[in-house]
Amino acid sequence: HIGPLRAAVPDVAVQAGVVLFFRDLTSARRLEAMRADFVANASHELRTPLASVLGFIETLQGPARDDARARERFLDIMKGQAQRMKRLIDDLLSLSRIEMRAHLTPTQTVDLAAIVSQMVETLSPLARERGVVIEAKLPSGPVPVLGDRDELLRVTENLIENAVKYGESGGKVDVELVRIGASHGEQMSHVALSVQDYGPGIAPEHLPRLTERFYRVDVVQSRDKGGTGLGLAIVKHILTRHRGHLDIASEPGQGARFTVTLPDAGPGGPSSSA
Ligand code: ADP
Repeated sequence: HIGPLRAAVPDVAVQAGVVLFFRDLTSARRLEAMRADFVANASHELRTPLASVLGFIETLQGPARDDARARERFLDIMKGQAQRMKRLIDDLLSLSRIEMRAHLTPTQTVDLAAIVSQMVETLSPLARERGVVIEAKLPSGPVPVLGDRDELLRVTENLIENAVKYGESGGKVDVELVRIGASHGEQMSHVALSVQDYGPGIAPEHLPRLTERFYRVDVVQSRDKGGTGLGLAIVKHILTRHRGHLDIASEPGQGARFTVTLPDAGPGGPSSSA
């Protein structure tokens, strides 16, 4: 029986090789298409405010040259557009820096409770201005995770800021951090950070696409609120590097809930059981 078996093996291997080759080709093409799409999107996002700034400069050099009131108004608009371009470039740079470090697993232990508490304090005045109260429920002790402090601050900032921005009509944002012990079938314990707002929520068809770069439910609304469409893509990339996960749930009309889970690095977590 050994002869026919031996003969069969190379055929199978060759066939498997061919199949793999085609798969690689399609995924390479898809990756290339995604990259081209991203460059086109980013260029368009920068071009729009730039065209507006150039238009106002021309008006100020021509018809509105001696109109002091128009000058003040136009300068204000130009400043807003320049700030929008800066936000976009900052987010593009963040995204590329995070991507460059994608293969580096964080080794530093940081206290997620302190990070969340700091961000709640930072964003509370801005929330209050919009009539939103941020209510935080944090464990009394530290919540250790392996991570990059600045990146985890960024995750927390993006989620709370979105909840305030898009859910302001709900008047309240609940932020909760809990440690979840390992259960049956699970090797590790986790920590879960949830950010819940009570605004209009998100229709189910949008949920799977929210972490795509430049994907926005309502482009005009996002721009009006100072969004770049990159926030959740940044969150997703940071979490991938941290072996974390983002779960989005929403009941339209009732608000949205964004939950981040990360491996627990404290007593009872993976590092202590190792
Ligand atoms: P943006 O810069 O536009 O806020 P994000 O990547 O942070 O970009 O979010 C993508 C889109 O997801 C937003 O434009 C908005 O349409 C939707 N979104 C995010 N958070 C919420 C929320 N809490 N409630 C409703 N919609 C949200």
